[in-house]
Amino acid sequence: MRVKGLGSAAGGGFPQWNCGCSNCSRLRAGVLKGRSRTQAQVAISPTGSDWILLNASPDLRQQITQDRDFAPNGNGRSTPIAVIVLTSADVDCVLGLLHLREFQPLRIYSTLSVRRVLTEENSLFKTLERSNPPIQWEVLRINERLPIRLPRANSDKEIFLCSAISLGGDFPDYVSDPLRRSLHQEEAVVGLEIIQNEKRLFYAPGLPGRGEDWKRCLSSSDLALVDGSFWTDDELNKVHGAGKAARAMGHMPLSGTGGLREQTKFAGRARRVLIHLNNTNPVLDEESAAHHAVRDSGWEVAYDGMEFNL
Ligand SMILES: [Zn+2]
Repeated sequence: MRVKGLGSAAGGGFPQWNCGCSNCSRLRAGVLKGRSRTQAQVAISPTGSDWILLNASPDLRQQITQDRDFAPNGNGRSTPIAVIVLTSADVDCVLGLLHLREFQPLRIYSTLSVRRVLTEENSLFKTLERSNPPIQWEVLRINERLPIRLPRANSDKEIFLCSAISLGGDFPDYVSDPLRRSLHQEEAVVGLEIIQNEKRLFYAPGLPGRGEDWKRCLSSSDLALVDGSFWTDDELNKVHGAGKAARAMGHMPLSGTGGLREQTKFAGRARRVLIHLNNTNPVLDEESAAHHAVRDSGWEVAYDGMEFNL
């Protein structure tokens, strides 16, 4: 399985256009040892010829036009992107679907609740139905393994088995109360366990950290790309003087009691990589104590263009 990290930052990217925090300011000034980052986006492929996007980031157009692996093949309209799998209805996970509106037939996998949020209340996404055939929605059921076959798969070894793991998060604030009441809470935010040819990828760019299922998936995976949004729970408040706590936004912080570092001391065999890094996170500064602390505890820090072969 080929895995590409096309984008690695949380919503807003790094630097964020309207943010004057120490990280963003120092990056703009060229005095921070670290890289700029687009918003979190991962793509996977069994062979490198057809691709599955894990979510669709607000930076998707830039991310796929800069990488020749996603270029059309031939003179007409075509794409090696065949499938998109969504982990939530958060703007950061779905806005990029609108970049894919150019009359391209695609398949989108999501929980039924996420699909209802996008199709019943957000008429803008109807632009995806103009393709012929229209976008095809497929339902991801919690803890059920679903085979995903790409158009040019040659053998069963190239089929992805995809399971959605409920991570206990919430639906986005923009969902209306009447719709929210008719949705299933466990379908709001999922992690993806993807198996191909006995190799396992665990993808959880938003990890509230409730329950234990995510730990089982992380420790049994070969590669885990996991929520590294915030270093502390009160990070936004500390940096900006206001802002929700990390946990209140569905992101378990990296440090402190009950933080990701403490909860993943069991490790397992997985190569563990932090993704979805918020611009305020000190981990982005490669000379910071926080950066060294996450590296010392066995985590890598994702950057745009990071690639893996499983
Ligand atoms: Zn900032």
